[in-house]
Amino acid sequence: MPSLSDALVISVSHPFVTLRCGTDTLRIAEDQIRDLVPGDKVILEDSEDGIPMIVERVARTSVLTRMSGDAMRRGGTSRPSAVAANVDLGVIVASADRPAFHPRFIDRYLLLLELENVRPALCVTKADLRSRMDDAAALYGSLDMPIVEVSTVTGVGMDDLRNVLRGKTAVFVGQSGVGKSSLVGALVPDLEIRTQEISAKTGTGRHTTTASGLYEWEPGSAIIDTPGIRTLSIDHVPKGQLRFAFREFEALSEHCKFRDCLHAREPKCAVQEEVASGTIPRARYDSYLRMMEET
Ligand code: GDP
Ligand code: ZN
Repeated sequence: MPSLSDALVISVSHPFVTLRCGTDTLRIAEDQIRDLVPGDKVILEDSEDGIPMIVERVARTSVLTRMSGDAMRRGGTSRPSAVAANVDLGVIVASADRPAFHPRFIDRYLLLLELENVRPALCVTKADLRSRMDDAAALYGSLDMPIVEVSTVTGVGMDDLRNVLRGKTAVFVGQSGVGKSSLVGALVPDLEIRTQEISAKTGTGRHTTTASGLYEWEPGSAIIDTPGIRTLSIDHVPKGQLRFAFREFEALSEHCKFRDCLHAREPKCAVQEEVASGTIPRARYDSYLRMMEET
């Protein structure tokens, strides 16, 4: 009987993957199991020559995908490709200022996570510049989503963020410049060393400080950070599915007159009624309408 063991995919640089198996880190060829991404769980089998082989990819509980950029630009059909697997939590990062606080970006990332079956959290960064907790609470307070406010400059809120992340495999998504890399750097203190260890193992020889892969910042708590996740696009999010990003609207849908109500101009719409009565924040509804127009 060949001996089997479980391993976790840390990083991928085709055709090689870096795996963590117990306390060991190993780098092997993808071979017959392809298209692995950080966060994938695999089964290894020891072969006669002592080099383990990946024999199976364990079914994914969730997968974050992106559309291939080229195909999108050419206007052709694009296929989604995986960027991370088994993600428990998608932290939507928005900065309080510089760049400005943009709820419409947050709404889109919310939808993206919703479509991928990944639970959301909201992290408002750059709290040293100003606070956006009132805006965030007004818009998203009614959702079942943790909201934290942090600054990597002063360290404020970082423990709250750690509490949200603890025990989970998380990704940070959000516009460029909001502070995602700074957060990863603050949470994974020896990030630079680890990145170099991986690049030494992968033999690329590049002393890159660009993180790319899965980082366990505490046993059982991991962050997956790759260029693919950092630039996750929200452009392809389909309009017809937009309403699923607004879960509190969706819950009211059964009370709308029309079964396929888009809660825009339809009469006898339960969502519009709750906006009128103030139960649903006007800002949240405006954000929904804006998104419907833009998409
Ligand atoms: P990313 O593109 O989302 O990865 O953002 P970065 O982490 O590269 O940060 C973008 C810029 O914001 C950099 O100049 C950071 O130094 C700055 N920055 C990040 N976090 C904070 C923060 O908490 N406060 C302030 N004032 N600046 C920050
Ligand atoms: Zn409606």
